[in-house]
Amino acid sequence: MLSERAKKIKPSPTLAMDARAKAMKASGIDVVNFGVGEPDFDTPENIKEAAIRAIKDGFTKYTPVGGIDPLKDAIIEKFKKDNKVEYTRNEVIVSCGAKHSLYNIAQALYGEGDEIIIPSPYWVSYPDQVLLNDAAPIFVKTFEKDNFMLDPGVLESHVSKKTKAIILNSPSNPTGQTYDKKTLEAIAEVVIKHNLYVISDEIYEKLTYDGFAHISVASLGNEIKSRTLVVNGLSKAYAMTGWRIGYTAGPKEIIKAMTNIQSQSTSNPTSVAQKAAIEALIGPQDFIKTMLAEFDGRRKFLISELNSISGVSCISPTGAFYAFPNISKLYGRYADGNKVSSSSYLALYLLEKANVVLVPGDAFGDDNYIRLSYATSMENIKKGVERIKEAVGKLK
Ligand SMILES: *Cc1c(COP(=O)(O)O)cnc(C)c1O
Repeated sequence: MLSERAKKIKPSPTLAMDARAKAMKASGIDVVNFGVGEPDFDTPENIKEAAIRAIKDGFTKYTPVGGIDPLKDAIIEKFKKDNKVEYTRNEVIVSCGAKHSLYNIAQALYGEGDEIIIPSPYWVSYPDQVLLNDAAPIFVKTFEKDNFMLDPGVLESHVSKKTKAIILNSPSNPTGQTYDKKTLEAIAEVVIKHNLYVISDEIYEKLTYDGFAHISVASLGNEIKSRTLVVNGLSKAYAMTGWRIGYTAGPKEIIKAMTNIQSQSTSNPTSVAQKAAIEALIGPQDFIKTMLAEFDGRRKFLISELNSISGVSCISPTGAFYAFPNISKLYGRYADGNKVSSSSYLALYLLEKANVVLVPGDAFGDDNYIRLSYATSMENIKKGVERIKEAVGKLK
């Protein structure tokens, strides 16, 4: 009965883990949830007020499909100010969250016979969005010793006649690592040489640490800019995950195709959320600093605690709000007579024995790791790592 397409797709494993944690909590179990993929902060008051104003003003009807001009202008200003890249209105489209932006790109660009290069570990939706559009994901492994940055030479060795695009994500979910300029330049060279496109998911650009400054690959020159689709959104930087506003900037032919596709699926992103997004982008930005300082304190604490657990090691993330510890040294130890041999098994063990929720690395394409989000209170983090320490200590 179901289409072949539908059969290829699995539900988002991160959302599934989060749902499980919420269900345990609802049944009265004291769970510590490291599975969350959204800031634990409320949307700032000025942004909420802008949406309330929009409702009261009756701004509640269809808008232009690709977003209202004042929002596009605010996005264009953001690119100019933060990334030193210039775009015009017909090079920008607003969609219902960055995930939707990425999906529109997939629909506009990918097709049967195309290969899309995805560095792994990867964000969970990339492979499935490629599959949903009949193209083939080509995974290229990245390594902890390189801070999980894709090696440009290794990238080139995976390029074939069928390669259409490569998906980059810096700062990265799940690794929390960021690309430096030199590596991005070398990747851009490969992309230009082989006439590929870059899909650059920059949703965590505002969340960086240790003085690291985010670099957009589109800012590295006009040639690479003309082959790049920059995806960004409001969800992470402004704690607006439920508002569903994301955007893409790139070549106008592709943006036009995405707009046509969007016109036949969702139509415009929610009118009042667009008004809120304008306020987020042009209003005071101090919220981000406050949130970032809080994340930074948690990051330092969590990384140092994880590294104090025997058999666990974690490199320091420079962006986003995830720790991605290596747990492969635990493989071969036993939990109640069962050999620990996968990240899913370890995640299940920690869920059952420690009431701690986290996401196994195999969901992101690397079974030697687990992902912990520190978008949860310091109190929870303290309680959670204590429990992990104790449960891991019981492995023999
Ligand atoms: C959260 C996230 C997104 C999607 O964000 P929305 O705008 O809420 O759809 C996209 N990419 C990555 C890597 C993310 O972590």
